[in-house]
Amino acid sequence: MSPRATYNNVLYEQNDRDRRKQAFIRKRKRKRALVILSFFAVVLILLLIIILLLINFIKKKYAEHVEAITYKDYVGEYHDVWLVDNSSRPGLGSGEAFFEIVDTGDKTEVDLKALKYKDIIPGSKGLVIVDAGHGGYDGGADGNGVLEKTVNLEISYKLKEELILRGYTVKMTRPDDEFVGLTQRASIANAQDDPVCLISIHQNSLEASEGAASGMEAWTYRREGCEELGNTILEAACKKTGAKNRGTHFRTNLVVTSRTTMPAIIFECGYVTDATEAAKLADPAYQEKIAEGIVDGIDEFKISYYGGE
Ligand SMILES: [Zn+2]
Repeated sequence: MSPRATYNNVLYEQNDRDRRKQAFIRKRKRKRALVILSFFAVVLILLLIIILLLINFIKKKYAEHVEAITYKDYVGEYHDVWLVDNSSRPGLGSGEAFFEIVDTGDKTEVDLKALKYKDIIPGSKGLVIVDAGHGGYDGGADGNGVLEKTVNLEISYKLKEELILRGYTVKMTRPDDEFVGLTQRASIANAQDDPVCLISIHQNSLEASEGAASGMEAWTYRREGCEELGNTILEAACKKTGAKNRGTHFRTNLVVTSRTTMPAIIFECGYVTDATEAAKLADPAYQEKIAEGIVDGIDEFKISYYGGE
């Protein structure tokens, strides 16, 4: 071996060692990069999972919230709704109207009832006083298992709802099954600001010795507007229910008609002593018809007595 050859050999070996060393370093760097990369990948995946879980959680919370406000809370209530003209609801049009929120059976959807009143502005027609006769220890007439005070309150509430849906506001003199004195009822009515009228809801009865009777009648006082109110409501309510119109009568001793200042009537919806009529009076569908008929009459009376629309 020449010295030169040895030198070359040494040089070669050194180069080879450097190369191997660098290769090792590169390999180590790659390995480290891979480890760092995997670490970040794992972190990223974990972050993604957390974000997805968070989105899901928020979505679920939001869905619960939407369900709560659209379904659970408002069903059966009446709300002022702003409608946008929508092709999926043809004929509804757009604008503000008053609707009952009704259950569609779907867990998250509600629907709107009372489309026939879509042009009505809530509260625009004035105040009507609804007086549910009797109450508390005063049961009123009783016949065929129908107690007057109960039916009076049921019809009064249906009347209230119908009035609200048709653009009136309502004051009830007896909102519960409690006794309210007649003079107190008159005072409550007279304290109201400019009411359209007062409707006192009652049921009629007859002694067995007096024979048989059925149908609707109004009792009132000789005061401006009262007879007209009685006749108009009787005509409309009898038309709606098919009940017999027994006319408007006058009495001086009825406090809610004689001591009030607005047009007022006592409206006898029917006879609890007549078995067929008693069954009808206790039926929610018939009660609804009575309410609708009375409001038809109030609408007519409002135009004819006060003028305007
Ligand atoms: Zn009565």
